[in-house]
Amino acid sequence: MKKRIYLLYGGKSAEHEVSMRTALSVIQALDFSKYEVSPVYITKEGNWIKKDALLEPPKMVDELKLQSETTMNALVEINKEIVRAIENNEQLPIVFPLLHGPNGEDGTVQGLLEILNLPYVGNGVLASAAGMDKVVMKHLFAQAGLPQVHYLSFNRFEWETNEKEAYDLVEAEIGYPCFVKPANLGSSVGITKCQTREQLQQAFVEAFQFDRKIIIEQGVEAREIEIGLLGNEQPKCSVAGEIVPKADFYDYQAKYEDGNTALIIPADIPQDVYEQIKEIALKAFKVLNCSGLVRADFFVTKTDDVLINEVNTMPGFTPVSMYPLLWKHTGVDYSDLIDQLIEYGCELYQEKQ
Ligand code: ATP
Ligand code: MG
Ligand code: MG
Ligand code: MG
Repeated sequence: MKKRIYLLYGGKSAEHEVSMRTALSVIQALDFSKYEVSPVYITKEGNWIKKDALLEPPKMVDELKLQSETTMNALVEINKEIVRAIENNEQLPIVFPLLHGPNGEDGTVQGLLEILNLPYVGNGVLASAAGMDKVVMKHLFAQAGLPQVHYLSFNRFEWETNEKEAYDLVEAEIGYPCFVKPANLGSSVGITKCQTREQLQQAFVEAFQFDRKIIIEQGVEAREIEIGLLGNEQPKCSVAGEIVPKADFYDYQAKYEDGNTALIIPADIPQDVYEQIKEIALKAFKVLNCSGLVRADFFVTKTDDVLINEVNTMPGFTPVSMYPLLWKHTGVDYSDLIDQLIEYGCELYQEKQ
């Protein structure tokens, strides 16, 4: 009896395209002798379409016309199949949300799956929500005493009411260079590095296009080191990897379009720096109540100071993305990684019953 897996992909976020690539890779890597795969495409408008095969981009346009029979139908169908599996004592199906960014990586989909009592892969509601919101995440890290850069945050109302005061405050408390980011996003979408007041003003406008809250961080000159965590109560840590972007910073283009960024795995860092990264990553995992997987991103300065930048609760997940590559170098290949994530998802579900 094969295990059924629902792959949720696409999604209502600026990271829609990234998720499409992830889904394609995961489908190709799944062992069809073990799994029955049901792809569920989520349109940019947020409609769910359940299909037997991965949708091809040109076909999607036609599919969009079927909106009336989409989201609810897909969910009802998934739910029915799960009830049937329980009644027949079959293996429980599981949902794998291959979604990045808001409405997928942020706890909303996870909450829906909880309500429907469906097992799913990865982080739960709290971890996803806290990990998506860079301001909340950084407040929690600060509370836990984790080392990080200085930051400030504004919502759109505060900015619109007193623009000048906002820029003055950034210059007084953060200075240049600084990074302006939408609070809730990923893949570097909406992020600007600023050196001048003029850039700062433009960066605010840009970031507010994606969110009603933004974060401004002190820009550090540092190496970028990332580590993968895998598991529930006692997560395992991967080797560390270094990102060396050719661009000024690791922006969207460098991530997905240039192919110019070097990923060095394992990162050439002293053992004690690796140990610090591991320790901070494990604390961050615990503080945010994570489960399943996390990629933790760090800055390591010239003097080997370690600062945590963020965690990603659904990191890039194609075979050439950092998270799977980190595990490959740690001895867990892509298909094995997917298997383990599915097992951790089932384990957590069983515990909650
Ligand atoms: P993802 O989720 O894809 O990792 P993201 O959109 O959450 O990305 P960050 O990881 O916070 O964004 O930042 C993207 C990149 O911008 C970093 O990898 C780094 O190159 C640069 N960067 C961000 N913040 C800083 C900072 N405070 N100092 C120096 N560089 C930074
Ligand atoms: Mg991120
Ligand atoms: Mg991300
Ligand atoms: Mg990052």
